Order: sequence, then C-alpha cells, then structure tokens
Amino acid sequence: MPKNNDVKFEVLHLPPMNTNSLLVSVGRDAVIFDAWGKAADWEKVLLGRGLKLQAIYSTHGHPDHISAAPALACAFNIDWFLSDKDNYLIGWGNELLDMFGIPHIHDDYKKPINLLPGTVEVLPGIKMEIMASPGHTPGGLMFYFPDYKILLTGDTLFAESFGRYDFPGGSAEQLQKSIRNLYNKNLSDETYVVHGHGMDTTIGWLKQHNQFFIA
Ligand SMILES: [Zn+2]
Repeated sequence: MPKNNDVKFEVLHLPPMNTNSLLVSVGRDAVIFDAWGKAADWEKVLLGRGLKLQAIYSTHGHPDHISAAPALACAFNIDWFLSDKDNYLIGWGNELLDMFGIPHIHDDYKKPINLLPGTVEVLPGIKMEIMASPGHTPGGLMFYFPDYKILLTGDTLFAESFGRYDFPGGSAEQLQKSIRNLYNKNLSDETYVVHGHGMDTTIGWLKQHNQFFIA
C-alpha cells in the first residue's frame, strides 16, 4: 500500500471483523469503500485520524458492504455511490446484520447515487476506474486505481475462490464473464488486490493460486 505524506490507502476491518473496507485519504479528505460495520465506529476512526469524510462508494448492495453507508452519508451530508442495479438489495439480508449485531438500515435511509462504469476522480489526484462486474449481484462494480496499482474486487473474486451467485439476482454465467474480463484487462502482476473478504493478494499471486482467475 502506498503511503506518502499526502496519499494513504488503508484496508480496515471494522468490528465485528468480516468485510474488507478501504479508507483512502489525501491530506485530511477521505473516502470510504464498502463501509461495513456501524456508522459510530467509522466516526471514531475518522475522528482519530483527523479526517473529513467526502464520499462513500460501494462495490455492491449486500448488507455487509453498505451497512454504515446511509447513516454516514447522512451524518456527514455527503454522497453515497452504488450501482442502481443493486438498489433492490438495500434493506435485504437483515438476518446477516442481526448475526453481527449491526443495526438495520433505516427505512428512510439516504438514497445512493447511481454509479456507472467509467473514470472518476474520487479525491484530488486520485483517479479511479469503475468496472461493471455483475454476477455476484447485478450491479456489482470493481474499482481500480491506475496510478497506485490497487484493485478492489468486491465479492466477485476472492484469494482462492469466487463470490456466490445463488443470492437474488446472481448469475454464474455473468460472474464467470466478469472474472474473465478482469483477467483480460491484463493488469500488471504487482497490482495490489483487496477482495471483499479474506486476505489481500496481487494479480500475479491470483494467476498462480486462483484456478478460477483465467481468460
Ligand atoms: Zn456480497
């Protein structure tokens, strides 16, 4: 993970540990990717680091990737981004939140803004490529930071396996195609990969160890 005075990429595991979240900051400005856990815990993290939250991005709409997003978006009066193809999942799967003791998303939650494939600047100087990655969910997205060679796969691909496709809206065929598209993107072997769950890898590591990461 690159770290200079200004730009920081940090993988965080908020309690109760389950999902990989990414906190990216430039100076005092920060964005969160996949805001798992409780909003109150994120507020402590941000306060402790002296950061001002500017936006939240979600790889997909499952509860373990968005649980803190609407409340944080409300508290900081900022935008929350998600593919609108996954909007139907907001509020779905509350049993999972119950299991982890995480509050349900409020009925009148702050609505996300639709995120489309393309390139955006998430913070000054931090360019991000958004790739459509359906299969695990219809609106699944992967995020790639070309200047830092960091990739977020969400639950499309894990270190040694791939995401489930048996949830509502999932598709094995689409998931396979999304993984193939990523492979064919030919990212360099040293690209650092943060998966939705489990250990981080690199593209080179995945080529050697993940039998499903193929063209
Ligand atoms: Zn998921």
